[in-house]
Amino acid sequence: MLLGNYDFVIVGGGIIGLATAMALGRDNPGKTVAVLEKESRIAQHQTGHNSGVIHAGIYYPPGSKKADFCWTGSTMLRRFCDERGIRYQMCGKLIVAINESELPRLQELHRRGSANGVLGLKMVGVEELRELEPNAAGVAAVHSPNTGIIDYMDVSRALAGEIQASGGRVHTGVEVMHISERDGRVVIETSKGEATAKSLVNCAGLHADSVARAMGLDIDIRIVPFRGEYFTLGPESAGLINGLLYPVPDPKMPFLGVHFTKRISGGVEAGPNAVMALAREGYRKTDLDLRDMLGSLRFPGFWRMAREHWAVGLKEQYRSFAKGAFLRSLQALVPDIRMEDLSAPGAGVRAQAVDRKGKLLQDFSIVRTRNSVHVLNAPSPGATSCLAIGDHIAGLVTEGA
Ligand SMILES: Cc1cc2nc3c(=O)[nH]c(=O)nc-3n(C[C@H](O)[C@H](O)[C@H](O)COP(=O)(O)OP(=O)(O)OC[C@H]3O[C@@H](n4cnc5c(N)ncnc54)[C@H](O)[C@@H]3O)c2cc1C
Repeated sequence: MLLGNYDFVIVGGGIIGLATAMALGRDNPGKTVAVLEKESRIAQHQTGHNSGVIHAGIYYPPGSKKADFCWTGSTMLRRFCDERGIRYQMCGKLIVAINESELPRLQELHRRGSANGVLGLKMVGVEELRELEPNAAGVAAVHSPNTGIIDYMDVSRALAGEIQASGGRVHTGVEVMHISERDGRVVIETSKGEATAKSLVNCAGLHADSVARAMGLDIDIRIVPFRGEYFTLGPESAGLINGLLYPVPDPKMPFLGVHFTKRISGGVEAGPNAVMALAREGYRKTDLDLRDMLGSLRFPGFWRMAREHWAVGLKEQYRSFAKGAFLRSLQALVPDIRMEDLSAPGAGVRAQAVDRKGKLLQDFSIVRTRNSVHVLNAPSPGATSCLAIGDHIAGLVTEGA
């Protein structure tokens, strides 16, 4: 069966693949675009399991791709939503220093965020902190009024609608298995037959490294899946939080540190932590995929990462199994949270690229070849930044064409 011959094929119907397909369709009138997504519906992995925060771009080193794409992406996203009536709320965020020793790092975050062009950032003392979040502990905070909440599934559906409206195709239930080249075209073998393209864009998230290797790319990274587990606060305790409440992160492991996240659908989530998952799509503690595990174990970078970060890893594992430890981390931010407030556990899995030296890639990693572009690392704030990333990739593809 032939799925079709296209100018551009995007592997992966998560928010970045969809944003890329929309940008390619918009910038290249008359050219054909198709998204190939293995699940029966779009956005079922990272995009459908994330925290739903519109980040402002505070944490990232100035000059990094995250810094470049996040603030721009968040303003593009808000405009996209305004034009289509997609609900979001700029509820604001506080990054809280629990004690005096965290103040220098808090000040550094304020400096970084301002250098990244984030508007409205302000250092606040105890009084203003208590006005904004009366139940929060802490001695000072950075307040970001331009951080908000959204449902990224709504955004993904709107992106798919735009792709289809401009003549593009979104094929679901189509898994990409092998990729080769024939007569100057990329030949993509899938579970539903063959497709061909002039250029391919790999936005396969948790499987991005496998798709890149399927195309013969000699890449030096492996995706290691990290599960982020969270609880939902019951209706009584959800009222303890007004917006988004975060601790000061460890600059070396910025994705660690459980926090409180108000959801656009109502309620508050507490978490997520970050524990190594035993399967790329391992949403439950018991999920195990031997192929994924063996692949990680055979990768030298995995062992170097384990040697470097074993103590942090063990602490996160402990907090994953001991609800009391999870609760204590939350109580550092909001002392009145009780065990009975934590219900309805859930999880998402982050695709974290690790290089051969065992380094966790912090920045977005987007690699171009003659006839393809590969998104090899797109953790948070990837959803916030999707429109900026999509435009960037569309530019790379068009330059290369
Ligand atoms: C727990 C968690 C919380 C987060 N919170 C936030 C947040 O609050 N704000 C924010 O901005 N970002 C957040 N992120 C990050 C954000 O979700 C990601 O950056 C973003 O969703 C990445 O999108 P993607 O399209 O690259 O990947 P995905 O959404 O994972 O999409 C990849 C797609 O590729 C498909 N695929 C894979 N292999 C194949 C194949 N062989 N053939 C066909 N299809 C394939 C998959 O099925 C999947 O649908 C969070 C992430 C996690 C996990």
